[in-house]
Amino acid sequence: MYPQPMIAMAAAAAFFAATPAHAQRDGVVVERVAFAMGTSLQIEARAETRDAAVQSSECALKAVEAAERRLSTWRDDSELMALLRMPVEESAPASAALCAELLEAQRWSRLTNRAFDPGVGALVAVYDLRGEGQWPSAARIARALSRGGIADLSIAGGRVTKRANVMLDAGAFGKGAALEAAVAAMKAAGASAATINFGGQTLMFGAEAESSVYVADPRDRSRSALRVQVRDGSLATTCNSERRRVVDGRPLGHILDPRSGLPAEDLGSVTIWASNAFDADCLSTACFVLGPDAALELVERLDGVEIVVMRCQSSSSALTVRLSSGFKDRVKGVLPELDIQSS
Ligand code: ADP
Ligand code: MG
Repeated sequence: MYPQPMIAMAAAAAFFAATPAHAQRDGVVVERVAFAMGTSLQIEARAETRDAAVQSSECALKAVEAAERRLSTWRDDSELMALLRMPVEESAPASAALCAELLEAQRWSRLTNRAFDPGVGALVAVYDLRGEGQWPSAARIARALSRGGIADLSIAGGRVTKRANVMLDAGAFGKGAALEAAVAAMKAAGASAATINFGGQTLMFGAEAESSVYVADPRDRSRSALRVQVRDGSLATTCNSERRRVVDGRPLGHILDPRSGLPAEDLGSVTIWASNAFDADCLSTACFVLGPDAALELVERLDGVEIVVMRCQSSSSALTVRLSSGFKDRVKGVLPELDIQSS
């Protein structure tokens, strides 16, 4: 047991309309609800027979549990934590799945100029983000930054070598990695369609028609601000409102800028759609750090990725919504007063 959620105490950032698209088709739909990686996991699996649907949802759960044993930075006995305990310049064999996930995380770290870097583990500790939260001294921030980033792991030939005393935090990619593992397992077990909601990150495949996914208002997470029409792929939201805390009179968010070592500006929320859940997870965190202009610019350069930025104006309570071009006709306001701009 570990006292706190491992990857994400994430929020009900998104929820589905009452009738998922895949339920309209033939086949049998089975629903499962579980708790994994410190958050809720809802699976709806469709297959030709009830047995196959049950079996595929079981395989999804097992895949998520295996991802947790592999990636958790909340428990000492995960495969990743064992690697991180190695002395600098030592190497050890790692599973094919972990090597692939670390390489993907490195790729996103490079593509986002380190706005996303799971090597924030030491920073997460100095801000006490898993506890009450604290404002560290500049010297402690500098020491945490000097421990390096995910680029300081060399991954080749099924081995990982630690080039610096880096500490990772899987919070910004673990759920996405687990969702991808779950989908692969479900497809292999015969599922023809599924809808998964994992702590607010959603993933769908196999639907014939689009469904509406509702995205929460970052000012008040109990209500929806807008809905996104999607048929497949994954929606991930990053925002501070579920974990906002005030320390010594100043708000301290849980998203850090790995380059400066400072908390990212609390702009509101960022929702990313991508065909792959891993990409959506990494990018929602990266785009929150980058801020609206750079985030929109990055997303427009990437194929098959869309973004919604909801910005809370500090001077008023107004919310400004910015959309990437591919989302122009897919996002509709639920709140009447929304100012929606598309690029
Ligand atoms: P959620 O947990 O709500 O799904 P995210 O996917 O954005 O939110 O992950 C945020 C978590 O990732 C933080 O709680 C922290 O553990 C870690 N983290 C914070 N900043 C960064 C960053 N810039 N790059 C990578 N990981 C980060
Ligand atoms: Mg993320």
